[in-house]
Amino acid sequence: MFTTFVKGFILSSQFSPPMYAEILLNHPYARKQETFTYSIPDTFDDFDPSKIEIGSGVIVPFQKKSLPGIVLSLHNKKPTFPTKDIAGLLSTSPLLQDWQINLANWISDYYFCSKFDVFRMFAPKNIFKIQKRKPKENATNATDATNKKLIHSSGKTARADAYILNDDQEKIVNSILKDKPPFSLIHGITGSGKTEIYKQLIKNFVQAGKQCLLLVPEISLTPQLVNYFKSAFPTLAVINSRIGDKKRAEIWHEIQSGEVPLVIGSRSALFSPFKDLGLIIMDEEHEWSYKQDQSPRYHAREIAKKMQELTGAQVVFGSATPSIETMKSALDGTYRLFTMKNRISGVALPKVEVVDMREEIKGGNYSIWSTLLEQKMREKLSRHEQIILFLNRRGSASSTVCRDCGFTLTCRDCELPLTYHSRNFGSPLLICHHCGLVAPILDSCPKCKSVRIKHLGLGTEKVETEAQKLFPTAKIARADKDTMSRTGSFENLHTALQNKEIDVLIGTQMIGKGFDIPGVTLVGVLMADMGLHVPDFRTGEHMFQLLTQVAGRAGRRDQVGEVIIQTYNPDHPSILFSRTHDYDGFYAEEISARAELFFPPFSRMAKLTTVSPDAKTCQKNANTLKDEIKKLNPTCRIFAAPALFGHIGGKYEWNVLIQDEDPNQILKSLPAELLKNFKIDVDPMVSI
Ligand code: ADP
Ligand code: ZN
Ligand code: ZN
Repeated sequence: MFTTFVKGFILSSQFSPPMYAEILLNHPYARKQETFTYSIPDTFDDFDPSKIEIGSGVIVPFQKKSLPGIVLSLHNKKPTFPTKDIAGLLSTSPLLQDWQINLANWISDYYFCSKFDVFRMFAPKNIFKIQKRKPKENATNATDATNKKLIHSSGKTARADAYILNDDQEKIVNSILKDKPPFSLIHGITGSGKTEIYKQLIKNFVQAGKQCLLLVPEISLTPQLVNYFKSAFPTLAVINSRIGDKKRAEIWHEIQSGEVPLVIGSRSALFSPFKDLGLIIMDEEHEWSYKQDQSPRYHAREIAKKMQELTGAQVVFGSATPSIETMKSALDGTYRLFTMKNRISGVALPKVEVVDMREEIKGGNYSIWSTLLEQKMREKLSRHEQIILFLNRRGSASSTVCRDCGFTLTCRDCELPLTYHSRNFGSPLLICHHCGLVAPILDSCPKCKSVRIKHLGLGTEKVETEAQKLFPTAKIARADKDTMSRTGSFENLHTALQNKEIDVLIGTQMIGKGFDIPGVTLVGVLMADMGLHVPDFRTGEHMFQLLTQVAGRAGRRDQVGEVIIQTYNPDHPSILFSRTHDYDGFYAEEISARAELFFPPFSRMAKLTTVSPDAKTCQKNANTLKDEIKKLNPTCRIFAAPALFGHIGGKYEWNVLIQDEDPNQILKSLPAELLKNFKIDVDPMVSI
């Protein structure tokens, strides 16, 4: 259970200073046993034992070694076993502040992960270790330096301000500064000027001596973005997954001392040691990269919310396509909602055309290009304009679609598309990855009896080959997981596109954002259906966001761009509403579907995954857990099903999915033994 540690209270009990400390060690051992009890010496040569506080970094003897550790609590309960004394301090001031300790404890409790994994995110490698050299001196001097720097940087701000805010922008900035809502959502279309609002907000907080955090998805953390803010805040710090240990430790000290007014970073920047945080901005709030996919499987949004509570910092979410849960909170008044419907430039949003691929087939065109897309590509290439072709490969999930009437085979219970498996389960079959239902494959469409009922699937390589065949002289490049894994390759691609070294870029969702290329006047979405048929409750939302973002890539500066979406399902809500850039329409449709099926945000989920080289064992483990949970919690909705991509590398994967108002409560009621073979994902992005 999570406890709030009240440092002042413990230390003020004058009569009995604490004698023991619970310490988390920086050693893999700490995964097995969360804390170790050490005694606090009465006196010591090197340091003053009264300096040992909650959050202190300490040195302790462990087996035959000296290990660094963090004090998580202090008490006077004499353990039944003999204890060793703490041997020293890592630094004169605490390693972690109260809000960080509280947050770390909350994360470990909420996400069911070891304290060790959590605390390591707060204390970088080079900090959480026994240092040879002297620790940083005197905090008071650092504070003076800070204040000077803050004033210095805000002085620069004034000169870097080129824009006069428009009415929308000004209203939002004023309202956030004056009314101080703890949470705000800025729902503004691409190009409506959200980034400039962030800058003005930050400027105001920095002038008031507060620190700010600007969170961005990893992929948007480009030099352009950093430079945009650097001109106003020269002493800002940038945190991403690529910086080395040494640099990370340096930045850590600068943030802790208060020298740094602004931190820009991807999700891990949340764990920076802010001394006086006033504002957290989470740009592109809906982005999936805000959820970490290894333990601790936290979502940056939830952490930001908790930080608001712990530090009092105001939180601002921004997006052109807010997540369903965030919009719901905004509409029910939990967050202050601001809407911006116009682009600064006045240039209209791109024109989106949806091509019904069933009609193409009726007309005898079986290629991957519709007549319209081919003609538009030809036209753009002849004018030396650039094209992006987009393929949603999230899941090479093949669903079964009738190429004549568009009928998609769905699960009779969950209404989610069934996934086709040719080999993974022996003979070909269809599976519902949500509830585990297995169905035989079909020879003909149940609706129109056509035999052209197909399992859809298409790869970027195939598209590249086909494109090159069609336009032999065009310069074609591909951006997908395979080609983009190298560091910097994203940057290189961006530059190449900017320099017009690429005519046609073919890519997966990676290119959905972060690109702002004026030369791109056409975006083609091939086989949108592949994305639509990932059998997960968030698929519709994801697809709508993706299509809207992708469409935002076309014609960003001075000309209206064109977007062509090819699909067998032109009536799917994600496509219908993205065609007219109608977020509100999409939201209304989606939220009622979620309510009906008791999907988040009306319920919460916890996904428990088990892996085994043996299919039968895997299935048995999952079903046993499911039955046990059901026995203890008869009313909870629970499913066991093979994971969608859980048959790679000779291993099998099954998920047990709890869908309930409070899955944490259910998980806590279970004997630890039962969960031993399972990875736990609380509030998973994907349920399958
Ligand atoms: P968003 O973040 O909502 O996509 P941006 O903040 O990037 O939009 O703004 C779009 C463009 O308009 C940018 O080039 C930005 O520099 C410019 N811009 C923003 N605010 C103003 C303003 N008040 N006056 C003139 N140009 C602006
Ligand atoms: Zn049909
Ligand atoms: Zn089902």
